[in-house]
Amino acid sequence: MTWPVSDRSWTARTRWSSARRGLSASAGFTYSGERFEKYFGDFIGKYGFHDMYSGGFYPFETLEEHWAYWSRYIYINRYLDAPKPVYSTLLKLVQDRDYFVLTTNVDHCFQKAGFDKHRLFYTQGDYGLWQCSRPCHSKTYDNEEAVRAMLAQQNSMKIPGELVPHCPVCGAPMSMNLRADGSFVEDSGWHKAARRYEEFLRRHEEMRVLFLELGVGGNTPGIIKYPFWRMTYQNPRAVYACVNLGEAWAPKEIAERSVCIDGDIGETLECL
Ligand SMILES: [Zn+2]
Repeated sequence: MTWPVSDRSWTARTRWSSARRGLSASAGFTYSGERFEKYFGDFIGKYGFHDMYSGGFYPFETLEEHWAYWSRYIYINRYLDAPKPVYSTLLKLVQDRDYFVLTTNVDHCFQKAGFDKHRLFYTQGDYGLWQCSRPCHSKTYDNEEAVRAMLAQQNSMKIPGELVPHCPVCGAPMSMNLRADGSFVEDSGWHKAARRYEEFLRRHEEMRVLFLELGVGGNTPGIIKYPFWRMTYQNPRAVYACVNLGEAWAPKEIAERSVCIDGDIGETLECL
């Protein structure tokens, strides 16, 4: 039995997951409320932001302020651990099986929980990577050290000017490696993972496969949901399962080979 597992949650606004209701939300990575207020009180006071995610799109006047906001955002969502062990629960369920994870999440939680990185495809980027904003070349850069410095040295909602990151090749400002528009850089790691995923699908084409969809919303379903439905339909030995609060359903063509659970992902996985 094979387990391609996935997680995705969408908003209409971008093509990377904000973790609003998916696997990471279930793990406690919430983007509003207490967690947002604790780290962004000054920004909320100045701009009236309602949640961390929409604040990330605000056109700040200076890059110093932009990176003061984003360094906090990256730090708490990428470099702090998730409050609840949902990812490790999932890993325990799949680790002895031939699994592959396709995700639009960008918060690195699968790697942090110990998933084999050769069995992961992060389609939409990673909070931990920067790229050239133009972009003049297709390479990404690990940002942990720089983000920690920004966090430590910011003052009155601004980082020092010398910490503003620039492209080492052309000098343009760096930007997040997140798929929001056509400037998203697919680096060599991205392409290798894409090939591994294709290869995994080829190897399991006519085998018993469980397409397990976790927390994928309905706004832009083209990466995980629709392909999972299609592949389940094409392979009579495949089963489709989905866990989603409020949006768990499958088309009638595959209904008899589908399991749809309307519930919290963490609580559901604990029951397995
Ligand atoms: Zn550049």
